[in-house]
Amino acid sequence: MTWGIFMLLFLIMTLGTHAAVGAVVAGLVPTNPVLGLGLAFTSHFVLDMIPHWDYQLASAARDEVDALNDDIIVGQAFIYDLAKIGTDFALGLLGALIILASFYDWTVWTWVIMGAIGGALPDALQFVYFKWRREPLVSLQRFHQWVHTTIRLDGRPILGASLQVLLAGVVLGVYVLLH
Ligand SMILES: [Zn+2]
Repeated sequence: MTWGIFMLLFLIMTLGTHAAVGAVVAGLVPTNPVLGLGLAFTSHFVLDMIPHWDYQLASAARDEVDALNDDIIVGQAFIYDLAKIGTDFALGLLGALIILASFYDWTVWTWVIMGAIGGALPDALQFVYFKWRREPLVSLQRFHQWVHTTIRLDGRPILGASLQVLLAGVVLGVYVLLH
């Protein structure tokens, strides 16, 4: 049942996937939530290297020539996007909490939340960059775009789903092996 929820997370979400994987990674150092946050932050970039599904944001303004000029338009569409992103993140956090609490107990919530925040943070920092284009955010944005896969799976749902299920299996497999 819980494994089913975890698999579902990988099928339907992006930021939530980062949050869930971040939480799992932070669980490697349960006594050190700050290090956990750092590891989760790093896991974001590793995940971004793997071809995956992305949903589009209605408020996104893309520059096809120079991705560093990408922006976000703060308006009505942005409110809907925020609700979408918020739900996505909350589902990932909740899913990870349910799975990991079933391995241990509910005291895991501290590092689960730290890990979920760390896993999602790089994307949150992109939003900060869009409105505040200063260092170190410029370099981070450049790195984020450089590391991110250029393979888009938008029109290939079966391949996208298979890769994400595979990823979920690998992450959980490694986690269970280590415990
Ligand atoms: Zn990212």
